[in-house]
Amino acid sequence: MARTTPAKPAAPRRKRGEGQWALGYREPLNKNEENKKNDDGLNVRQRIIDIYAKHGFDSIDPADLRGRMRWYGLYTQRRQGIDGGKTAVLEPEELDDRYFMLRVRIDGGQLSAEQLRVISDISVKYARGTADITDRQNIQLHWIEIESVPAIWEALEAVGLSTTEACGDTPRVVMGCPLAGLDGDELIDATPEIAAVAERYIGDPEFSNLPRKFKSSISGCAAQCTHHEINDVAFAAVRDPETGEVGYDLWVGGGLSTNPMLAKRLGAFVRPDQVAEVWAAVAGVFRDYGYRRLRHRARIKFLIADWGAEKFREVMEQEYLGYSLPDGPAPVNVDGALRDHVGVHQQTDGLFYVGFAPRVGRVNGELLAAIGTLASRYGSGRVRTTAEQKMVIIDVPSENVHELVAELDALGLPVKPSVFRRHTMACTGIEFCKLAIVETKGRAMQLIDELERRLPGFESPVTINVNGCPNSCARIQVADIGLKGSLVTDADGKQVEGFQIHLGGTLTGGDASGSGFGRKVRGLKATAEELPDYVERVLRRYDAAREVGE
Ligand code: SF4
Repeated sequence: MARTTPAKPAAPRRKRGEGQWALGYREPLNKNEENKKNDDGLNVRQRIIDIYAKHGFDSIDPADLRGRMRWYGLYTQRRQGIDGGKTAVLEPEELDDRYFMLRVRIDGGQLSAEQLRVISDISVKYARGTADITDRQNIQLHWIEIESVPAIWEALEAVGLSTTEACGDTPRVVMGCPLAGLDGDELIDATPEIAAVAERYIGDPEFSNLPRKFKSSISGCAAQCTHHEINDVAFAAVRDPETGEVGYDLWVGGGLSTNPMLAKRLGAFVRPDQVAEVWAAVAGVFRDYGYRRLRHRARIKFLIADWGAEKFREVMEQEYLGYSLPDGPAPVNVDGALRDHVGVHQQTDGLFYVGFAPRVGRVNGELLAAIGTLASRYGSGRVRTTAEQKMVIIDVPSENVHELVAELDALGLPVKPSVFRRHTMACTGIEFCKLAIVETKGRAMQLIDELERRLPGFESPVTINVNGCPNSCARIQVADIGLKGSLVTDADGKQVEGFQIHLGGTLTGGDASGSGFGRKVRGLKATAEELPDYVERVLRRYDAAREVGE
């Protein structure tokens, strides 16, 4: 009888790697990773100075143009006149303009009068007067030509500003409370910790090739204005109830975009002098264990979602930090507090700060110069940017407040804005962004004007965030009314610009237990033209139905 050879046990199927360096997957698994391996993004600076600025746009290596330029805050802007319907169907190069957006990073949102003057000069001289305050406290300029970049850097760097790692798979701007060191309610002035991280690690090749962008926040703000819940890494100030010691509660893995997740508390208490090394440990875990196979799964939030907070903390402490952090308390819940610092308020030193509201962050070079002049005339010259696309002039003696408020008002920068102006934000949109499907800034401004006209007595601080595509640069999922740009079908069956509506998002601060993302109401869409009517209806209904104190 013939003997059958027993079948060989199947070799265990090798688990497909996600491109984690720490597990040995060093070979690039996609084009972006290949570009980063071929040459560090930071090296593009010298080529810009030596070659591209001298020989012009056409001399730029495509891998630099669509990749490494971002390491210095440069993105090609959208070619003018291409509508949102073409965003997904054209090749990236067909969307590219020969001009750039340039993002100036403002760590902690802190600017001197001189720095503001330099940004204003650059805007007027090289950026056709454009300037937008972003919701991560940066200032973005448009219409930049490659030939101008070295001169722009020279001017910025002469006053201590930079565009290094303002974009790209890098540690982006470190957010901080604009009132750090000034607000009586703050738990701690985080300025030294922000400076330590920025000085030690921004532009450091150790952290210039991360799997994806890495957004940081370090804040002692009592109103938790930099939103620790939605940063990749965040240090939120806490006071230990037993010892009274003030330090930071460590959060990792927040992010919105197309797959929103709230950050997770690691439950660790970080002393102020440990912040920079703990930041580096978290960034190190991300660099080495982060997923590099698929761009849309590369943010640190996916690693945290798979590992959980406990494992992440263990790996971070044991493999990177070399010591264990003690457990600590969660930040106090700030639900209901306004987290934007608009208005006139007293500082700890008896002076005042004056927060005002450009519409959806849009300013311009001349306006920035005027703001700088007012800050010097009525204060000490120091200015701050906020996480809500607003600005603050600080150090104003009480006798100057009235005049400063009047002058800001005359410039169209109200200190007591309507709730709509105060709580509406918009991303860049189709005007300049290559990913955009719809126009945003202009639409949001029109919406503010319409709502002010139609609902003059409306006082609830309802947030309205307007995005040009699903990427959520303007945080649609955490707004009361989140508007996500998309093409929609109008009454005549035509595809037109419009918005998918998300309702009821909120960030409550604290341990985030009350936070939640807005609900995408099935089929709820409005054309851009219908938008004011739609939002008015929602607000009227809300106002009629809300409970006292809601
Ligand atoms: Fe561009 Fe979309 Fe971000 Fe708006 S949300 S700036 S359209 S990528």
